[in-house]
Amino acid sequence: MDCPRCAVEMVQLEGEGSVMSRCPECAGVWLDIAEVNRLLLRHNMPGLESLGGYPNVDESVGQCPECQVDLVAVEGGERRSMRYDTCEVCGGIFLETETESEDVKEAIKSIIDFYRRFHHAKGAAKGA
Ligand SMILES: [Zn+2]
Ligand SMILES: [Zn+2]
Repeated sequence: MDCPRCAVEMVQLEGEGSVMSRCPECAGVWLDIAEVNRLLLRHNMPGLESLGGYPNVDESVGQCPECQVDLVAVEGGERRSMRYDTCEVCGGIFLETETESEDVKEAIKSIIDFYRRFHHAKGAAKGA
């Protein structure tokens, strides 16, 4: 499966009860929405649906590597400076991580950090 951003073959990471794909080029990870929710709950965070965020359909962010439909950007965090991409068909999620490591634990930590910041910006938490 190729990275929706770089069209580079992603590497599968597995462990800690999770499976995800990571792009060696941009360090982006691709995982299922159910997987994201499981990780969030395990770290005492609300599910993705409750984290807020603003879909931006004008932003072109590439195609789902599985469904070949356009991904939708969801913006959030401080002044909407953060973004993850989602596929409305299969529920796949793509987000950039900040870890150089191919260790699944580091990837998970990075994902949780991302959603913590995404969530904590003013207003974003209160739904809408
Ligand atoms: Zn990439
Ligand atoms: Zn899809």
